[in-house]
Amino acid sequence: MFDFIAQKFSSLFTQFKGGLNKQAVDQFFTQIEAGLLEADVPYELVQDFIALIKADKRLETLKKHEQLVQLVHTQLVSFLGGANQVRYSFTIPSTIMMMGLQGAGKTTTIAKFAFYLKKEAAKKNKKRKILCASVDFYRPAAIDQLEIVSKQAGVDFYRATATNAQDAAREIQAYARSKGYEHLFLDTAGRLHVDNTMLLELKNIDNALQPRHKLLVLDAMTGQESLSVARAFEQAVGFNAAVLSKADSDSRGGAAFSFRYALKRPIAFVGVGEKHADLELFHPERAAKRMLGLGDIDTLLEKADEHIKENEQKKIHQSWESGRFNLDDFAQQMGMINRLGSFSKLMKYMPGMGSMNISDSMLEQGEQEMSQFKAILSSMTLKERVCPKVLNPSRKTRIACGAGVGVDQVDKLLSRFEQMQQYAKLLKKSGGIQNMFRGR
Ligand code: GDP
Repeated sequence: MFDFIAQKFSSLFTQFKGGLNKQAVDQFFTQIEAGLLEADVPYELVQDFIALIKADKRLETLKKHEQLVQLVHTQLVSFLGGANQVRYSFTIPSTIMMMGLQGAGKTTTIAKFAFYLKKEAAKKNKKRKILCASVDFYRPAAIDQLEIVSKQAGVDFYRATATNAQDAAREIQAYARSKGYEHLFLDTAGRLHVDNTMLLELKNIDNALQPRHKLLVLDAMTGQESLSVARAFEQAVGFNAAVLSKADSDSRGGAAFSFRYALKRPIAFVGVGEKHADLELFHPERAAKRMLGLGDIDTLLEKADEHIKENEQKKIHQSWESGRFNLDDFAQQMGMINRLGSFSKLMKYMPGMGSMNISDSMLEQGEQEMSQFKAILSSMTLKERVCPKVLNPSRKTRIACGAGVGVDQVDKLLSRFEQMQQYAKLLKKSGGIQNMFRGR
């Protein structure tokens, strides 16, 4: 979702690396206007964003390209909700009403929330009592779908006996209260397009339950259209925050860029895949960095904290810091990194990737190479991994056969490994891994 805008900004910033003058800055504005319009940002919003940048006093004294990046970053963060956007939290006890068009991702997002809240509670050695229920009588299999995903996420599900949305909602809330549930997620019926019957039904449920949280799920792929959908929900029912689903799609990012400014409501979370764990908090600061092609190392480090144990992290750190790095370390680290997500997903968080215009086929190739490397490494003996110098042609042939690849692939892995060793040495000289991502 961030890639399209990131490519536009990064290629623009690269053009001005040589230095800045008035003509270059004017050119910057013309090109950024075109880029944002192409990303499906509404015309008025593009003008407002440009006006914000033009109003920044620092613009008059810009000399270096880094200052321009910094200035655009500051304004973009405030456009997206500000650096101090509060982390969205769910009150206990609370009813959470999920709204959105059909197919936006409501049901999937409920399962993600249940999973997220359980995980957050587990970090504090707590357990959450969560109930999921649906009043979607419009789509025949909707209630069954919620029952399935609730089970998968390991939370309770309740099926109302009433068949009218408002009565069912009351029944569900009374049940949740009588059983002492801390969070009740209520799935509601959407439609393919904004529809008055749907909005009236939501309004009635809202009046009947007075939910603490009303969240609107929007499909990032619908672009500018999502803003008019959100306005219709806002006028008829109101909502606290939005969840932008399908941020992993190749949508152009117009919705993420525009939402906060146009609706004056925060995007609280983004859906980044179909699995329960594929939900991220939306941080304006991090989103701005992604949009400017500066990557998102903070999210990557958080993922690492979640999936890689502290002692494993220490081991990675030590092997890189020491400048001594063998194939066994390489194999172990690759295994750990795999836990964070696919190669292509991880690349999107890396600084500078936006400007490199990496195609899907290149990412696919990288993914394939990683799995070949894994097979090669697991065909080696420990001695070979610790001391790759022993790898003579006959050993290489044996390893290649075991991994089902050609000897050239084994050589490729070895040359990659040598490069990494060089990096490790360089890193040691430059003062350590901490300095690697600093200064951006
Ligand atoms: P609902 O009609 O609003 O309840 O939508 P669903 O939860 O049934 O989701 C519709 C489709 O979108 C399903 O195929 C989901 O797997 C998919 N989906 C939902 N969220 C995401 C997301 O963040 N990323 C991707 N790639 N797919 C998603």
